[in-house]
Amino acid sequence: MTLISVVVPCYNEQDSLPIFFAELTRVAANMRTRWSSLEFEAVFVDDGSSDSTLEVMKHLATSSNIIVRWLSFSRNFGKESSLYAGLEHSHGDYVATMDADMQDPPSLLPEMYEILQNGEYDNVATCRTTRKGEPPIRSWFARRFYRLINHISKTDIVDGARDFRLMKRSMVDAILKMREYNRFSKGIYGWVGFNTKWIAYKNVGRVAGQTKWSFFKLFAYALDGIVAFSTAPLVIASLIGMLLCLLAFLLIVLIVIRTLIFGDPVAGWPSMICLIMLLGGLQLLCMGILGQYLAKIYLETKNRPIYIIKEHN
Ligand code: UDP
Ligand code: MG
Repeated sequence: MTLISVVVPCYNEQDSLPIFFAELTRVAANMRTRWSSLEFEAVFVDDGSSDSTLEVMKHLATSSNIIVRWLSFSRNFGKESSLYAGLEHSHGDYVATMDADMQDPPSLLPEMYEILQNGEYDNVATCRTTRKGEPPIRSWFARRFYRLINHISKTDIVDGARDFRLMKRSMVDAILKMREYNRFSKGIYGWVGFNTKWIAYKNVGRVAGQTKWSFFKLFAYALDGIVAFSTAPLVIASLIGMLLCLLAFLLIVLIVIRTLIFGDPVAGWPSMICLIMLLGGLQLLCMGILGQYLAKIYLETKNRPIYIIKEHN
C-alpha cells in the first residue's frame, strides 16, 4: 500500500473547503482505479479560523472514504506554520501541499504522481504561467522581489512558484528538520535541494471567500524572505559605510588644503545640514538592517513552538 497525504492549510475557508474536498475525493477515486495500491489521507489544518471551518472539517472527517486528520490551532499562526504542522502530522509516502481555495487544482495530482513514479525526481512543484487576476502593482513588486532575492541569495527561489507540491517522504523529513521560527517555504524548498520537476499551469481565481494576503502582508513576507535567505543587506550596509568614510576622508583633505591656500570664508551651512541629514539617515538605515537580523535572532533563540494545537482528531 502506498499512502498519499494531502496537507491543506485553511484559514476561514468554510465555503471553499467542501468544494475542494469533493474534487479531491473524485480525483482520489480516479487514481485508485489506475493505481490500486493507493490510499489517501487528507490533513486539514485550521489556522485559527473565525468562521465555521473547523465544523466543516469535523463533518468531512465523519463522512468520507478518505482518512481525514484535522488539527486546529489556538489562534492564527499564518500559512507557514499551518504547512509545517500539516507536514508534521502527515504519514504518507508521498505528501502534497495545497490550498483549500481550488487555486491548486487536485486534477493535477495524477500527473504529478506519475512523474514521481519514474524515480528520477524527488518532488514535483508547480508554478503559474501568468499573474492574471492580480493587481498590476502587486505583480510588479512580486517580480522585483524575485529578481532581487535571486541576485542576493544563494538559494534558488523561483518566480511564480506556488506552494502546491507533491514530495517524497525523504524530502518532507528534510523540511521537517528545518525547525526555524521565521519560515519562508519558497526558500526552504530551494535550500533542502532534491531533484525538482516543475510543471506550469494557468492561474485560476479562488472558488469562494477572499484572499488572506493584503499588499502589506505580502511586503512584510518578502522582507522576511530576504532576511531569512540572504545576508547581503548587511554586506551592502557595510559597503555603503566604507564608501562614505572614504569620501569624507577625501573631502576633509580637500577642505584643509583649500583653507590653507584660500583662507576660511564661513559659508556652506545649507550643504552641511544636507550632509548631516544624509549621513544620519544612512546610519539609521544601516542600524535598521542590523536590527532586522537581530530581531530574527531574538525570535529564534526564544525557541517558541511554531504552532499550538488546541484540538485534533
Ligand atoms: N492560509 C492559512 N493561514 C493564513 C492565511 C492563509 O492557512 O494566515 C491558507 C488559506 O486558507 C489558503 C492558503 O493558505 O488555503 C492560501 O491562502 P490565500 O488563498 O488567501 O492566498 P493566495 O492564494 O491569495 O496567495
Ligand atoms: Mg488562494
